[in-house]
Amino acid sequence: MICRKCGATLDDGSRFCYYCGEVFSEEDEKDWNAIDQKEKEIAEMEEAEIKRAVANMIYTTTPTIEGRKITKYLDIIYGSAVIGTGFISDLGAAISDLLGDKSNMYNGKLNYARSEALTQLKKAAIRQGADAVVGVEMDIMTVGSNMFVVNVSGTAVKLNDDLS
Ligand SMILES: [Zn+2]
Repeated sequence: MICRKCGATLDDGSRFCYYCGEVFSEEDEKDWNAIDQKEKEIAEMEEAEIKRAVANMIYTTTPTIEGRKITKYLDIIYGSAVIGTGFISDLGAAISDLLGDKSNMYNGKLNYARSEALTQLKKAAIRQGADAVVGVEMDIMTVGSNMFVVNVSGTAVKLNDDLS
Protein backbone atom coordinates (compact mmCIF):
# COMPACT_ATOMS: atom_id res chain seq x y z
CA MET A 1 0.00 0.00 0.00
CA ILE A 2 0.99 3.61 -0.56
CA CYS A 3 0.82 6.24 2.18
CA ARG A 4 -1.62 8.89 0.97
CA LYS A 5 0.11 11.58 2.95
CA CYS A 6 3.75 11.17 1.87
CA GLY A 7 3.65 8.60 -0.96
CA ALA A 8 5.90 6.05 0.78
CA THR A 9 5.45 2.37 -0.09
CA LEU A 10 4.40 0.36 2.96
CA ASP A 11 3.53 -3.27 3.65
CA ASP A 12 -0.13 -4.05 2.95
CA GLY A 13 -2.14 -3.86 6.12
CA SER A 14 0.11 -1.22 7.73
CA ARG A 15 -1.78 1.00 10.15
CA PHE A 16 1.00 3.51 10.51
CA CYS A 17 3.49 5.21 8.15
CA TYR A 18 7.08 4.82 9.28
CA TYR A 19 8.09 7.76 7.12
CA CYS A 20 5.65 10.52 8.01
CA GLY A 21 3.85 9.18 11.08
CA GLU A 22 0.40 9.14 9.48
CA VAL A 23 -2.03 6.67 11.12
CA PHE A 24 -4.71 4.93 9.01
CA SER A 25 -7.68 2.68 9.54
CA GLU A 26 -8.73 -0.48 7.74
CA GLU A 27 -11.49 1.56 6.07
CA ASP A 28 -8.93 4.03 4.72
CA GLU A 29 -6.94 1.21 3.17
CA LYS A 30 -10.05 -0.26 1.49
CA ASP A 31 -10.97 3.14 0.06
CA TRP A 32 -7.44 3.68 -1.24
CA ASN A 33 -7.26 0.25 -2.82
CA ALA A 34 -10.56 0.94 -4.58
CA ILE A 35 -9.19 4.25 -5.89
CA ASP A 36 -5.94 2.57 -7.04
CA GLN A 37 -7.93 -0.09 -8.87
CA LYS A 38 -10.05 2.52 -10.65
CA GLU A 39 -7.01 4.56 -11.65
CA LYS A 40 -5.36 1.43 -13.01
CA GLU A 41 -8.45 0.59 -15.06
CA ILE A 42 -8.54 4.10 -16.54
CA ALA A 43 -4.82 4.02 -17.38
CA GLU A 44 -5.23 0.64 -19.09
CA MET A 45 -8.28 1.82 -20.98
CA GLU A 46 -6.45 4.88 -22.28
CA GLU A 47 -3.49 2.77 -23.32
CA ALA A 48 -5.78 0.40 -25.21
CA GLU A 49 -7.50 3.32 -26.91
CA ILE A 50 -4.19 4.87 -27.92
CA LYS A 51 -3.04 1.51 -29.29
CA ARG A 52 -6.22 1.20 -31.33
CA ALA A 53 -5.88 4.77 -32.62
CA VAL A 54 -2.23 4.13 -33.58
CA ALA A 55 -3.21 0.91 -35.39
CA ASN A 56 -5.99 2.70 -37.30
CA MET A 57 -4.05 5.82 -38.28
CA ILE A 58 -3.75 6.19 -42.04
CA TYR A 59 -0.23 7.07 -43.16
CA THR A 60 1.31 7.21 -46.57
CA THR A 61 4.34 8.43 -48.47
CA THR A 62 2.04 9.94 -51.10
CA PRO A 63 0.78 13.54 -50.80
CA THR A 64 -2.87 12.51 -51.20
CA ILE A 65 -5.15 9.69 -50.12
CA GLU A 66 -7.13 7.81 -52.72
CA GLY A 67 -10.86 8.47 -52.40
CA ARG A 68 -10.57 10.99 -49.58
CA LYS A 69 -10.24 14.73 -49.61
CA ILE A 70 -7.85 16.65 -47.38
CA THR A 71 -9.87 19.37 -45.66
CA LYS A 72 -7.15 20.81 -43.45
CA TYR A 73 -3.37 20.72 -43.12
CA LEU A 74 -2.62 20.68 -39.40
CA ASP A 75 1.13 20.58 -38.92
CA ILE A 76 4.37 18.89 -39.87
CA ILE A 77 5.01 16.16 -37.33
CA TYR A 78 7.97 13.96 -36.44
CA GLY A 79 8.91 10.72 -34.84
CA SER A 80 12.30 9.25 -34.06
CA ALA A 81 14.03 6.28 -32.54
CA VAL A 82 17.64 5.69 -31.61
CA ILE A 83 19.54 2.45 -31.82
CA GLY A 84 23.06 1.77 -30.69
CA THR A 85 25.38 -0.28 -32.87
CA GLY A 86 27.19 -1.74 -29.87
CA PHE A 87 25.47 -5.04 -30.57
CA ILE A 88 27.47 -5.37 -33.80
CA SER A 89 30.91 -4.99 -32.25
CA ASP A 90 29.80 -6.89 -29.14
CA LEU A 91 29.43 -9.96 -31.26
CA GLY A 92 33.05 -9.59 -32.32
CA ALA A 93 34.65 -10.55 -35.59
CA ALA A 94 35.90 -13.87 -34.29
CA ILE A 95 33.60 -16.24 -36.11
CA SER A 96 33.04 -15.31 -39.70
CA ASP A 97 30.04 -17.57 -40.27
CA LEU A 98 28.22 -15.50 -37.66
CA LEU A 99 27.98 -12.83 -40.31
CA GLY A 100 24.53 -13.99 -41.39
CA ASP A 101 23.27 -13.82 -37.83
CA LYS A 102 24.83 -10.42 -37.33
CA SER A 103 23.13 -8.96 -40.35
CA ASN A 104 19.80 -10.53 -39.34
CA MET A 105 20.16 -8.96 -35.94
CA TYR A 106 21.02 -5.64 -37.51
CA ASN A 107 17.96 -5.78 -39.75
CA GLY A 108 15.80 -6.77 -36.81
CA LYS A 109 17.01 -3.79 -34.78
CA LEU A 110 16.58 -1.46 -37.70
CA ASN A 111 13.04 -2.68 -38.35
CA TYR A 112 12.22 -2.25 -34.69
CA ALA A 113 13.58 1.32 -34.75
CA ARG A 114 11.59 2.09 -37.91
CA SER A 115 8.34 0.87 -36.44
CA GLU A 116 9.06 2.68 -33.17
CA ALA A 117 9.67 5.95 -35.05
CA LEU A 118 6.44 5.45 -37.01
CA THR A 119 4.52 4.81 -33.80
CA GLN A 120 5.88 8.11 -32.42
CA LEU A 121 4.77 9.84 -35.61
CA LYS A 122 1.27 8.37 -35.34
CA LYS A 123 1.00 9.39 -31.69
CA ALA A 124 1.96 12.93 -32.70
CA ALA A 125 -0.83 12.75 -35.31
CA ILE A 126 -3.32 11.60 -32.66
CA ARG A 127 -2.33 14.51 -30.41
CA GLN A 128 -3.02 16.87 -33.35
CA GLY A 129 -6.46 15.31 -33.83
CA ALA A 130 -5.41 14.24 -37.34
CA ASP A 131 -7.19 11.68 -39.52
CA ALA A 132 -4.08 10.81 -41.49
CA VAL A 133 -0.42 11.57 -42.12
CA VAL A 134 0.62 12.24 -45.72
CA GLY A 135 4.02 12.70 -47.34
CA VAL A 136 5.72 10.44 -44.83
CA GLU A 137 9.49 10.40 -45.24
CA MET A 138 12.01 8.37 -43.35
CA ASP A 139 15.74 8.74 -43.06
CA ILE A 140 18.49 7.17 -41.05
CA MET A 141 21.40 9.14 -39.67
CA THR A 142 24.47 7.97 -37.86
CA VAL A 143 25.35 9.84 -34.71
CA GLY A 144 28.97 9.49 -33.68
CA SER A 145 30.41 6.09 -34.44
CA ASN A 146 27.97 3.90 -32.57
CA MET A 147 24.45 5.21 -32.91
CA PHE A 148 21.75 5.33 -35.55
CA VAL A 149 18.77 7.64 -35.45
CA VAL A 150 15.70 6.82 -37.51
CA ASN A 151 13.74 10.00 -38.23
CA VAL A 152 10.31 10.14 -39.79
CA SER A 153 8.32 13.19 -40.71
CA GLY A 154 4.99 13.81 -42.34
CA THR A 155 2.09 16.21 -42.58
CA ALA A 156 -0.87 15.66 -40.23
CA VAL A 157 -4.14 16.27 -42.06
CA LYS A 158 -7.90 16.21 -41.54
CA LEU A 159 -9.97 14.32 -44.11
CA ASN A 160 -13.56 14.64 -45.22
CA ASP A 161 -15.90 11.88 -44.02
CA ASP A 162 -17.04 11.00 -47.51
CA LEU A 163 -15.69 7.59 -48.50
CA SER A 164 -16.67 7.85 -52.14
ZN1 LIG B 1 3.57 8.60 5.04
